[in-house]
Amino acid sequence: MDYKEYITIVEDWPKEGIKFKDITTLMDNGKAFKSAVDEIVEYARKLDIDLVVGPEARGFIVGCPVSYALEVGFAPVRKEGKLPRDVIKVDYGLEYGENVLTIHKDAIKPGQRVLIVDDLLATGGTVEASINLVEQLGGEVAGCAFLIELTYLDGRDKINDYDILTLMQY
Ligand code: AMP
Repeated sequence: MDYKEYITIVEDWPKEGIKFKDITTLMDNGKAFKSAVDEIVEYARKLDIDLVVGPEARGFIVGCPVSYALEVGFAPVRKEGKLPRDVIKVDYGLEYGENVLTIHKDAIKPGQRVLIVDDLLATGGTVEASINLVEQLGGEVAGCAFLIELTYLDGRDKINDYDILTLMQY
């Protein structure tokens, strides 16, 4: 399926020069959304994963249906101050400034095979930070799956050592 026809490109949002890829128009189409999730599920089946990890907020939207279909758990990666119990953290650079991501300390058992899912791979900073969290807890990153890859930002270079699936490239 050509998913690109379901993505809305919003010029200059959230700031000038950004072409925001809005996935809500893909989510709005039940068949297209299911087909995209199914492709990630099929990919994940081959990797024999134990757990899905997704960064907030759109990583939840894409990652949770994948974990549901595979009957494996889902662990959220969230900004600091959002998770209620003991967490581990990672600092990572943004285009402007710094950000902190966290995951519950008991979210992953050592040796578990993890699939990281997000809506979009841009600079790769978010997925790199998520990998860092998974590995701090002794998890093994079996793969990373995204609906969209912005190839001109070379995010893939940051995660060269890992298996990657992207359904659309811009
Ligand atoms: P990055 O850490 O640079 O790979 O950015 C990834 C995160 O930022 C993803 O979770 C996206 O939700 C969001 N993002 C970055 N650029 C865009 C864009 N052009 N359109 C939509 N979302 C974006």
